[in-house]
Amino acid sequence: MASIPQLEFTNKDAIPDIVNGVRSTFYTQKTRPLEFRLVQLRKLYWGMIDNQNAIAAACKQDLGKGHFEANLMELDFCTQTIIYCCNNLKKWAKDETAKDIPLANKLLFPKIRKEPLGCVLIIGPYNFPVNLLIAPLAGAIAAGNTVVLKPSENAPNVAVVLQKVIEGYLDPSCYRVIQGAIPETTALLEQKWDKIFYTGGATVGTIIAKKAAETLTPVTLELGGRNPAIITKNADIRLAARRLLWGKIVNAGQVCVSQNYTLVDKEVLDRFVAEMKTAMKEYYPNGTRNTDDFGRIINDRQWQRLKKMVDESKGKLLMGGEMDESDRYIEPTMIQVNSQTDSLLVDESFGPLMPILPVNNLDEAIRIANEVHDTPLGLYPFGNKKETDRCLREIRSGGASVNDGFMHGSLPTLPFGGVGDSGQGAYRGQASFDCFTHRRSITSTPSWLEGMMSARYPPYTGKLEKL
Ligand code: NAD
Repeated sequence: MASIPQLEFTNKDAIPDIVNGVRSTFYTQKTRPLEFRLVQLRKLYWGMIDNQNAIAAACKQDLGKGHFEANLMELDFCTQTIIYCCNNLKKWAKDETAKDIPLANKLLFPKIRKEPLGCVLIIGPYNFPVNLLIAPLAGAIAAGNTVVLKPSENAPNVAVVLQKVIEGYLDPSCYRVIQGAIPETTALLEQKWDKIFYTGGATVGTIIAKKAAETLTPVTLELGGRNPAIITKNADIRLAARRLLWGKIVNAGQVCVSQNYTLVDKEVLDRFVAEMKTAMKEYYPNGTRNTDDFGRIINDRQWQRLKKMVDESKGKLLMGGEMDESDRYIEPTMIQVNSQTDSLLVDESFGPLMPILPVNNLDEAIRIANEVHDTPLGLYPFGNKKETDRCLREIRSGGASVNDGFMHGSLPTLPFGGVGDSGQGAYRGQASFDCFTHRRSITSTPSWLEGMMSARYPPYTGKLEKL
């Protein structure tokens, strides 16, 4: 296979013209017909399939992502999303009859039309650099928008391959890719948009929301979270260990929805730690260093950040701990911490670190979870039904997986999004179409209704009494 060319940033000065071009295409109505959108979605599908080896190779180079993960969580996720959009587009795009309309007003034929928002910007992160760019793109195409995409410069090989797919297979007058880092993204934010869809950290999310607010541009923000897992003494400890370990080994823990820390009832702590070690041996009989089944940290900066979090922790190492800067390797590492103010809890690790904080009971676990972050992206309670129901009731979160790691975040058709400072808006499944759609309420007043309508015209004297 040919090697992937080096990422070249788009010339900043060219950005306004590129965006204006894509915006002008929207005004030509080109993306309105459903047939056009379906053709573009099918082309996107084939672009992904034709380039699947290059996509997998780029994921490997950028994140050390193995064949299984790249296929399942990047490629398949996207192709399933595209097929689902194609199969449902006609149904989603149909005018909706308005509900709960009084009989007399039905004569106005009220309905809701699904309009594209216009020209939209999608900014992607590095961790699932394919999935988190292409899945929103499929929704934006399905809804009839023109789109500019900004892949993460931190996954440069994927960025190059995706530009080839998007601009090579789709209509380039409607869909363009801008490559770059902060200066290029800043230039993009200076342009007029009908929506900005951003996935990434909350700090940059705030910059984007502020900039968008200047022009009242709507935003969807898919941000990070310090997600709690909770294990009560009634949980199935073996299952909890196996499932939570999975939640941290995928993508070497660089998953926005994986648990950031685990609150474990003291009564089952030793068993949980032992089961974690057993699961680790079972998943990686030869360790995580030399296997295709465990990735690497994206870059030196992130590796250093994770190392600092571990160095500053006051906790006790229970499992793992090996780190190698030259390879950006961090072994899945479990650390027992003493307090919720430990460095491993106060920030999102976004790496294969598993701090465990022992608690006395569920009351304490719920209190700590709410104190650490009152609106995380995900919540993972393990226990009996009464206990997990209580966690769902008393801890807010964007989504939740009961008795599992981030399973809810793995379903391509289940709406996905944060709440509070873990994000706003949702996408996936029909929510992806809705995310890029304006629901336009329309009435049509027949001319023959004028007699009845004339009641609304002045002079009003005496009219109120007659109604
Ligand atoms: P990143 O470094 O890839 O940045 C995301 C995007 O923001 C990139 O395209 C980047 O170019 C752009 N960007 C960076 N700085 C900018 C600035 N100053 N102005 C404008 N644009 C800028 O990704 P990241 O933010 O480091 O990703 C990790 C974070 O993303 C974690 O917090 C993680 O939880 C979150 N995340 C959330 C989701 C979700 O779906 N909710 C998914 C993946 C990652």
